[in-house]
Amino acid sequence: MSGRPLPLADQLDAACRFLREGDDFLVAAHVNPDGDAISSTLAVGEILRRLGKRYTLINETGNPPKFAFLAGDRVIEDDSLQPNLAFSRVVTVDCADYDRLGSVRRHILPDTPLLNIDHHPTNDGFGTVALLQPEAAATAQILYSLIQKLGLEWDKELATFVYTGLLTDTGGFRYANTTPEVMATASELLGWGVPGSELAERLLERLTLKQVRLLQRGLSSLSFSHGGRLAWVSVSHSDIQELEATSDDLENLVNYPRNIEGVEVGLLFKEIKPGSVKVSLRSAGTVNVAEVARLFGGGGHVRAAGCTVEGSLEHAVERVTGEAGKAWS
Ligand code: 5GP
Ligand code: MN
Repeated sequence: MSGRPLPLADQLDAACRFLREGDDFLVAAHVNPDGDAISSTLAVGEILRRLGKRYTLINETGNPPKFAFLAGDRVIEDDSLQPNLAFSRVVTVDCADYDRLGSVRRHILPDTPLLNIDHHPTNDGFGTVALLQPEAAATAQILYSLIQKLGLEWDKELATFVYTGLLTDTGGFRYANTTPEVMATASELLGWGVPGSELAERLLERLTLKQVRLLQRGLSSLSFSHGGRLAWVSVSHSDIQELEATSDDLENLVNYPRNIEGVEVGLLFKEIKPGSVKVSLRSAGTVNVAEVARLFGGGGHVRAAGCTVEGSLEHAVERVTGEAGKAWS
């Protein structure tokens, strides 16, 4: 993060002013949106609705089918939205850098005021107003504080949006980011009628048949190096095409190498198009995988990070396992 961030209370004040003073907002999340990105998008939309503002919700690919039930009749636009560049303000959620917006960038003029709400430690502080809390478990946790600060009334729906971001970014309240604050917030939100077990079942347990087929193929590529401390699986472009898999279907595959006993870093290589490999990095804790991802122009968190490497699958495996392996050499 560039410079020294303002104290959280001052950041919250500035964010409240940004939302209250503007109108006609574009609310945008990162490419391949996850649960935190979608629920934060929906929560900011609801905040703006309550404030009587006009707004458009967007990310490059819209709302993944998995989260359709959460949005109800709300629309999250995708790449097909016609640019009119009339938005007077932009709010980004869960985006560590401006490029993570992908094609959404074509809707934003360079001088449009932008509020950057995020919890990634690698956030570069882009935009005009920052609401950055790297110690927050999820962007949704920051939105909880923002909603409190704005003095908005909680109801089941708004509580469900915030809870979903907490649930998904903590892996079901299990990862190391599951702090007392997360549990206290989740507890309070459940009190508003959030269907906790239904959300966990739909978002964490349920698998599509494609996911299981990909798992079947992915596991056949399981490889190790550095005395079993590094493990990875890869999925080729032809596997993805044959199974008509989406990035959603590939989401949890990286947990298999990571969860093996003795493995300190687990990697997933996805050849998303010929010559372009998306890499997911997961650490058991000792290795900072955000630093490894950063070497390839990516980023993320200490234990969960990502990057894209141009070239063949074999090239990406060689480059990334080489850099990750330096942790032990
Ligand atoms: P995943 O492996 O699930 O795609 O991403 C894991 C984490 O790394 C997420 O927090 C995500 O936001 C971050 N991440 C993934 N890919 C990139 C990337 O290309 N650039 C940056 N800055 N962060 C990424
Ligand atoms: Mn997040």
